[in-house]
Amino acid sequence: MMPTFEDIMRIVRASLAAVLFSFAAWAQSAPVTVIRAGTLIDGKSDSARHNQVIVIRGNRIESVTDAAAAQTPAAANVLDLSHATVLPGLIDTHTHIFLQGEEPSEGGYDVQLLKFPLAYRAARATVAVRRALEQGFTTLRDVETEGAGYGDVGIKQAINEGHIPGPRLFVVTRAISTTGGYPLEGYAPEIEVPKGAQIIDGPVEARKAAREQLDHGADWIKVYMTHRSWVGKNGELVSQPTLTLDEIKAIVDETHGWGKKVACHAYSGIGLHRALDGGCDSIEHGLDLDDAAVAQMVKQGTWYVPTFSVYYKDWSPENTPEGKRDRLRVSAHGQSFKKAMKAGVKIAFGTDMGGIPWTEAIAQEFPHMTEFGMSPMDAIRSATSRAAELLDRQGQLGEIRPGALADVVAVEGDPLRDINELGRVRFVMKDGQVFKNEVHP
Ligand SMILES: [Zn+2]
Repeated sequence: MMPTFEDIMRIVRASLAAVLFSFAAWAQSAPVTVIRAGTLIDGKSDSARHNQVIVIRGNRIESVTDAAAAQTPAAANVLDLSHATVLPGLIDTHTHIFLQGEEPSEGGYDVQLLKFPLAYRAARATVAVRRALEQGFTTLRDVETEGAGYGDVGIKQAINEGHIPGPRLFVVTRAISTTGGYPLEGYAPEIEVPKGAQIIDGPVEARKAAREQLDHGADWIKVYMTHRSWVGKNGELVSQPTLTLDEIKAIVDETHGWGKKVACHAYSGIGLHRALDGGCDSIEHGLDLDDAAVAQMVKQGTWYVPTFSVYYKDWSPENTPEGKRDRLRVSAHGQSFKKAMKAGVKIAFGTDMGGIPWTEAIAQEFPHMTEFGMSPMDAIRSATSRAAELLDRQGQLGEIRPGALADVVAVEGDPLRDINELGRVRFVMKDGQVFKNEVHP
């Protein structure tokens, strides 16, 4: 006999009830952690709150309440951070876990592609991600492996499966530039050297590279829209454009079709404008944003990921063309940042760690942002809720609120009074698991 419509509906209802029941049973059995927060900066609100109780069930935040009104669930593991400032796990949206600084005396960039075996690079990337987590960075958008192929996809898998500690990774794999648009360079033309990015020429190759990278696990696509830079005749920062408008449009079109986004390295001028006309979702570095670029970013909702710290490193001597350029990069960057902030461009925290050795502090970027006029609370939001928005994970990451993933950090002082406190993270929880707790009770 054929089952009637009512029969089918009865079966559907019964199975649905069974699924809901087992979910509820699982939720009840998941371990409960209670954090007593002396001060809470939730990553989204304008001001901090005091004496808060955060209840975490499994890997999710269940509730956030005033301590006076809070009821601690029985059998909960209680973490006393009542003398600390609690914040959401921090997010760096511009890192390179496969790069180990570019210190010229240690061989700079080139030695890493020419002489470091891949397994050695992967081993050091494993250390880099652990270093990030130790410093309270529970999420990274890692914007290319610099010649290490799809290694970032492998490191992400090892973290997600629990083999190694590390942040949640959003990876871009190889990145894309053009002939003449990325190192290694300066070798004899007869010698074939590896390139730090996938090289394309023409919209067909551009689209194919994006397809390959997305097929192999890229969460984002990264494109270099400018390359060399120098001081122009009128003392302005000039940068060499790389991809044509047709090339970047092919990449953006393909990537958006996969429901993913495109991050564009762009310093200034023609390449920056092609990036915006081509529909890039985030401008990386953006050293010299002219007024038209700022207006277009506001209009299109393009993200700005400034990266100050890295441009303070390894300056050439003052009275050389390179030395003048290095100093102009820093001063132009500060002006662009102020302009973007004033116009209301969406800004997310990024450092270019990897360009900076992983032995250094990621949080060194915060005081540069506040020095150029951003409030400490906005600097914190750029590395929490705003960064989560860039990653399309608003409400899930970068916030201490019910329903969000339980990525929680704490410092002992007040980062709103001294932003450098963010360089002294004492407590780190990722996905409901305590990774480090050095808070004095
Ligand atoms: Zn970078």
